[in-house]
Parts: sequence; structure tokens; C-alpha cells
Amino acid sequence: MSCDFLALALPGVQKLSPYVPGKPVEELARELNLDPAGIVKLASNENPLGPGSKVLAAIQAALPELTRYPDGNGFALKQALASRYQVSAAQVTLGNGSNDILDLVARAWLAPGLNAVFSQFAFAVYPIATQAVGAEGRAVPAREHGHDLDAMLAAIDENTRVVFLANPNNPTGTWFDAAALQRFLAAVPERVLVVLDEAYIEYAQGGDLPDGLDFLPRFPNLIVSRTFSKAYGLAALRVGYALSSPQIADVLNRVRQPFNVNSLALTAAIAALQDDDYLAASRQLNDAGMLQLETGLRALGLRWIPSKGNFIAVDFARDAAPINQALLRAGVIVRPVAGYGMPSFLRVSIGTGAENSRFLSALAEVLKHG
Ligand SMILES: *Cc1c(COP(=O)(O)O)cnc(C)c1O
Repeated sequence: MSCDFLALALPGVQKLSPYVPGKPVEELARELNLDPAGIVKLASNENPLGPGSKVLAAIQAALPELTRYPDGNGFALKQALASRYQVSAAQVTLGNGSNDILDLVARAWLAPGLNAVFSQFAFAVYPIATQAVGAEGRAVPAREHGHDLDAMLAAIDENTRVVFLANPNNPTGTWFDAAALQRFLAAVPERVLVVLDEAYIEYAQGGDLPDGLDFLPRFPNLIVSRTFSKAYGLAALRVGYALSSPQIADVLNRVRQPFNVNSLALTAAIAALQDDDYLAASRQLNDAGMLQLETGLRALGLRWIPSKGNFIAVDFARDAAPINQALLRAGVIVRPVAGYGMPSFLRVSIGTGAENSRFLSALAEVLKHG
């Protein structure tokens, strides 16, 4: 057997590198022989609050039904989302995480000869989803690490089917305001789908970050994608959703796996949506943690990109890999972003007050000796 199956893969797939996730606590514990309990992970933008009690109770109650397939239409969760956001259930598509939504869009509308436009430094899943179906990914140079919407408009041609926007963006935390979004949507040809990825929107509401849902009635080519992984604290369960026109939802539904969202995720997401106190606590913890990190970083003489997410990209103005290694040895996991073309940065998720303190004091030690 000497068949080269890589050579037989789609050309776009051959050129892909696998997504690099944040290092799991157990992995670092194994590698460095550390006590997992003493390790702080601020690497995957996870919710440091832990699951809410209402979510845990809902999952407990659903366990006896584990032998049954989930509701493939996700009726109850779609109803809950529709009533929360004042849309019809026909406008809701459920995903196995919002990652799944991005994949569904690519599978339904992209193919060899077509292209998707996204920003330099944008979320890594956009190029992966695009190339996996053989389409061309067009990464448009960023402006001050944020989306350059005018340049993205200029990159659209007759073969563009999808634009991916992240607001705020991961890993940079950058954002654009409502006026910029309005201008962009008004200028994009209607046949080009605009995926507005709002994975962090719940952290940022109230400021100058636009709410994508306000634009849905005016722009039939808009798909707003959101997730329960971040502010709602359900990353392990994998549940996200898109809100769009009913026709777009119908198309996404055609390529979706029949049971893409599992029963525990469905029931937990409904419980999470009803738990306003948990969401408020998530926001409050994030606001306090952001302030704590900014204050600590300033005291260390460091610079960072202002962020509206639950993370912050710190600029060390030199190769950050050795700093990352030293932090790992101190039991602190953050996220290197060299793979995004940001080798002087580390992305730090906002943790609890105690976790943020651990990070800041470990970082102070590392910088003192390096
Ligand atoms: C975390 C994140 C997602 C959400 O991923 P899930 O699959 O819903 O867990 C989507 N987009 C961006 C930009 C993210 O950072």
C-alpha cells in the first residue's frame, strides 16, 4: 500500500492546517508533571463562571432520554430563540456550535471557482470552512488589526458568494460600529451572503457595538451567527445558531446533519436562555476582569489591542513564544496567535479575579527574568 491519500484529497484540503485549540489542562499537567488543580487555563475564551445551576438541573432531567435521538428540528429551542429575539422560528438554524453554522454556509454556497472574503487576523474557521469545500479564501489586509470594511468591499468580485465578518473579532477583540456595518451592508451586492459572527455579542451589548439583528429586516442576504459557548457558558455541549431570512434557513437546513445538536445541548440552551442572572453575572465578571487585566498590563508597561470580547490580545513587541513557554512552566495556559500572523502577541481569556491575578503575577515573574 503506497497510495498517497493526502495527494488524493481536494486541493483546498491539502493546503489546510488543522485548527490549533487552546492547550487542555490535562495535557499540560501530563507534559510538565504538574498538578492539574494548580493550572490556570485562559486560552479558549471559556466562561470562567462554570455552568449555572439551572443548566445542570435541565441536563440531569434529560439524562433518562439518552437512548433516544434528539429532536432533529430543535423545535423547543427554536421557539425559545424566536420569542427571545422577536423573529419567526423559520428564521432560526441550529448548529453544533456556531462553527457548524459557518461550515453549513460554506457547504451550501461555496465550491471551486467561487470565493469567500474575510479579514486578515479573522477567526481561523473562516479559511478552514472555505478551503475545505475547494473555494478560495480571500484574506483582506486588516487596519490596526481590525476589519478594513472598505478594502473588503473592494475584494468582492463576481465569484464572491460569502463574506465573513466577526464583530467583535477573535483573536483581536476589534469591532466596528453600527454606521460602518450599515454602510457595508448597503454596498454589498445582494447575491453575496454576509455572515456576521457575533460569538461575543452578549459581552458587548450597550456600547457602540451594533446588534446584527437590527439589520436583518433590511438585508435579506444577512446571516447573524451566535453561540452558547461563550457568555452562556456551554462550550462543551456545542450549540450555536444562525438567524437569517427563512429562505436562507431553509437552504442551511438542507445540508445540515439530521441530528446536529444533541439533546443535552438543546435542553441546556433553553435553560441558559432563561437564566438572565447567569448572563448578567458573566458580563459583570468579564467587565471586572477586563479592567483588572488592563490595569495589571499597564503596570507592567505592556500594550494590548482594546477588546470588546472576553479576551485580550497583548503585544510584547518581540517574539512571544518564549514568554508563552515560561508561562506554561508556571502553570498558566494562554493562547499563542503566531498562527494568525501575530507572533508578538498572546491572547489571554478573561478569567475569575483569582485566575487573572495568577496570570498577572506569573507574567511579572517571567518578564523580570526574561
Ligand atoms: C468561539 C467563537 C465561535 C464559537 O464557536 P462555537 O462553535 O459556537 O463554540 C465562533 N466565532 C468566533 C469568532 C469565536 O471566537
